Amino acid sequence: MAISLRPQRWLWLCLLLALLPLGCGQQPEPKAAARLIVLGFDGLDPKLVERWMADGSLPEFDRLRREGHYQTLATSNPPQSPVAWASFATGEGAGAHGIFDFLRRNPETYAPEFSIAQFTPPAHSLSFGNWDLPLGDGRLVNRRQGEPFWLRATAQGQRATVQRVPVTYPPDLVQRMLAGMGVPDLRGSQGTYTLYATRAMAAAESGGRVVNVAMSNQGRIETLFEGPQHPLKPMQALSLPLIVDARADSAAVTLGDETRELKLGVWSDWWPLRFPFTLGSIPGMVRLRLVEGYPRPLLYVSPVHADPTDVVVPLTSPPQYAAELAERIGRFHTLGMPEETWSLNQGHLDEQGFIDMVRTTLAEGEAMLFDAMDRHDSELVIHVFVQPDRISHMFWRGLDAQHPLHAESNDTARGAIGWIYREADRVLGAVRARMGPDDRLVVLSDHGFASFRRAVHVNRWLVERGYLVLTEGAKESEPLFAQVDWSRSRAYALGLNGIFINQAGRERSGIVTADERAALLQEIIKGLADWRDADGSVIVQQSFLASAIYPGAHAEDAPDLVLGYAPGYRASWQTTLGGAPRLMVEDNRQPWSGDHCIDPAAVPGVLFTSFEPGQSLDNIAAMADFLLKHTPAAPAH
Ligand SMILES: [Zn+2]
Repeated sequence: MAISLRPQRWLWLCLLLALLPLGCGQQPEPKAAARLIVLGFDGLDPKLVERWMADGSLPEFDRLRREGHYQTLATSNPPQSPVAWASFATGEGAGAHGIFDFLRRNPETYAPEFSIAQFTPPAHSLSFGNWDLPLGDGRLVNRRQGEPFWLRATAQGQRATVQRVPVTYPPDLVQRMLAGMGVPDLRGSQGTYTLYATRAMAAAESGGRVVNVAMSNQGRIETLFEGPQHPLKPMQALSLPLIVDARADSAAVTLGDETRELKLGVWSDWWPLRFPFTLGSIPGMVRLRLVEGYPRPLLYVSPVHADPTDVVVPLTSPPQYAAELAERIGRFHTLGMPEETWSLNQGHLDEQGFIDMVRTTLAEGEAMLFDAMDRHDSELVIHVFVQPDRISHMFWRGLDAQHPLHAESNDTARGAIGWIYREADRVLGAVRARMGPDDRLVVLSDHGFASFRRAVHVNRWLVERGYLVLTEGAKESEPLFAQVDWSRSRAYALGLNGIFINQAGRERSGIVTADERAALLQEIIKGLADWRDADGSVIVQQSFLASAIYPGAHAEDAPDLVLGYAPGYRASWQTTLGGAPRLMVEDNRQPWSGDHCIDPAAVPGVLFTSFEPGQSLDNIAAMADFLLKHTPAAPAH
């Protein structure tokens, strides 16, 4: 899923490509005698898989089940992709790998930060006129702790190709790795799109920006496209001229040095860009889509992706793998979470545009996976397809007759999830067709899915109970706890599943002492358990104390309480960012209509193996040792 935070600084441009070793592929690698192929399908749900295996819609999954092994696979707590994939990689729970949510909170500021990768700019810079020259390179780290099993395989001499696994940015030093969720766009954000509108449109709440532009009588728009921040003037963006001549069903678009014809409702191919500045230029690439034509054109420009043919972020290991892959399969989306969920959610991209975009990322994923398989020189090949998760988030309303948006869902929305499951089945068949007799296959998902019918404003509940106190006169709070009086607040909610205690000595304005803490947590747990929706439904099915579920040395970012919502409920978007609107619970009337950030018992994932596993695999964290054990030895050379 895509959560966008304020863009970080530009400084990762100066990053440590130089620290990643060169030196792979000078001479042909010996062939792998046998391989373990691991296919991840993010969000594949056992209820749907079982239903559609039974009715014949998923023949390849059904064949794998009959010839090998099938089971449900318990997910992480909370059941969020970065948490679960970090457990998959390291074999550890969140208390050991340190990833508890897409977001972590900074106890100094109470502000949410992206929890997966962290860039620390160089400590010193030199001001020169209105330039700001960094001294040093800064530091980029994957916040995931622990050792992923592909590094353990590498240490044993086995070769691993790892593609698009979430929480792998910057990439690990294995034979080949293409980073997944965590890779930023060139603004340093998790994906910022731009919509050019010729009629008044509200600003994007998240993930993008709406630029209202004037149009001449002839349908011409002349404006600027803003790209990455100026490397030497951190407050300024680099930009390129954008000229659009709009017609009813097409537009001539000039962006940078290039002019192309765009057809209404058809994505452009990759559009390479160079953003010039005094000392050089920054390469990137975008895709464009004319969402509506003249007389009221809407032009959509994707986030600026790092161009794999000329990378400015540490996208792959070794660094040249990005360009090598682009040479073999063409340019591909490089942003960690490229599926444009926010633009569809905010009505800035049409449903077909979203589905076409997912179709493209799926085709890219297949091409890079098949390339890895056809090279036949890795004992371990891992690829994660996130497309089932993204389609399920955006189109669950089409499947769930009780969703508030179901009645108004069209055939596209109703058919989308069935389509992506059949696509997963097709990819599975193509992978099996490429396997040799000694190769083994493991297919898994990180969690299942449920409907997201009602949005839960947990901070409002905390306000009503007196745990979170608003400033004098405030009736509600904007995100980032804008109207919160910390000197009187004892607890706050942030992220998709967490409640934090405003703890003395930990939070900047913490007031809850160590003696009061346990009783306060018990009181909140009881209150949440008794909480009922207007129709009497349970809202929070289970609450978990961090102290009970997170053994390990890296629990400092953990929420004090993890909420396991009942299926149908989920934290509201406002809650995730520290907002407290007036209602406690309300209907979710946005396209983002399916979710899994609930009670983990309700959303297990799936596991298929082409062989008898010979042991019980009761949790996604059990996969790391199991997969390492089944990775074949490399040939002696
Ligand atoms: Zn998801």
